[in-house]
Amino acid sequence: MTVIELESVLKRYENGTETVDALKGVDFEASRGEMVTVIGPSGSGKSTMLNMIGLLDTPTRGAIRLDGREVTDFTEDELTEERRSGIGFVFQDFHLLPMLTATENVELPSMWDTAVDRRDRAVDLLGRVGLEDRLNHTPDQLSGGQCQRVAIARSLINEPDILLADEPTGNLDQDTGRTILDELTRLKEEENVAIVSVTHDEQMVEYADRVVRIVDGVIQ
Ligand code: ADP
Ligand code: ADP
Repeated sequence: MTVIELESVLKRYENGTETVDALKGVDFEASRGEMVTVIGPSGSGKSTMLNMIGLLDTPTRGAIRLDGREVTDFTEDELTEERRSGIGFVFQDFHLLPMLTATENVELPSMWDTAVDRRDRAVDLLGRVGLEDRLNHTPDQLSGGQCQRVAIARSLINEPDILLADEPTGNLDQDTGRTILDELTRLKEEENVAIVSVTHDEQMVEYADRVVRIVDGVIQ
């Protein structure tokens, strides 16, 4: 089932006199249970594309549909709800809070749920990424690969349909990167999420169900 659709998406940034078309009419789609990897050089528009799918930015022209719904039709409340529970994010530099334990970091996006529920779910997710014996460790007590697994568990706490990963292996050595990609592959199958990852790591290509190359704002 297609959950993400971009149709003729143009994104123009205007800074004073300078105009940059970061995306020049992009068509793209991704389905549940599929990992699509967007690969391209620095400055080609990968982050811009991910930000738009993640509802952090809006296109200048063109359409974005999530679960068949045009995002410009969402109310502010619906946008907030979709960002909160429809979409999970994983970043290159993990974005974990240093004072919190692994469990507390995973719980963080679900603070409105009851304490017992969210704790149980966080512990369960950490077990699923192999960190059942690291629940009370803080990020500085964890390796890079373990921090990224905490971040993946956190991204899944609200059971999103879509997981967006911006250079998820960017700060990891090759072997650790591989364990993270194995983890994403397994979660994709078990949770039936659509994963869109952007990278310039060629290793990620082997793990993708589909690879999309973007150069200078144009899908090749
Ligand atoms: P990538 O993620 O592939 O490195 P980006 O999406 O970050 O590429 O950037 C694509 C192009 O858009 C670049 O030329 C970049 O300089 C420009 N750009 C990105 N964000 C902004 C912004 N907020 N204002 C102006 N230009 C931007
Ligand atoms: P990975 O293979 O996931 O990268 P490492 O080989 O870096 O893991 O780490 C091996 C073990 O050392 C892990 O069990 C991890 O918990 C522990 N470890 C790594 N860094 C630290 C640290 N800064 N403080 C305490 N334990 C650490």
